[in-house]
Amino acid sequence: MSAPVTPEITTTECRQCGLRIAGLNGRYACGACGWVNSWREGSNTLPSAEDDPDYPGPEPDRPRA
Ligand SMILES: [Zn+2]
Repeated sequence: MSAPVTPEITTTECRQCGLRIAGLNGRYACGACGWVNSWREGSNTLPSAEDDPDYPGPEPDRPRA
């Protein structure tokens, strides 16, 4: 199965302040209150964290695989 990798723009209401916000592939970050939903709610499979250019480093409470 070869799904396209182009992000899909989606919108939702912020679950914290109710603002209408846009996101990509079901992932959101509210610019008004700072709420973000879980990346697990996204509609596609993410690359591993290490593949992200913004990867800040391993989380301290999660051993590296
Ligand atoms: Zn908000």
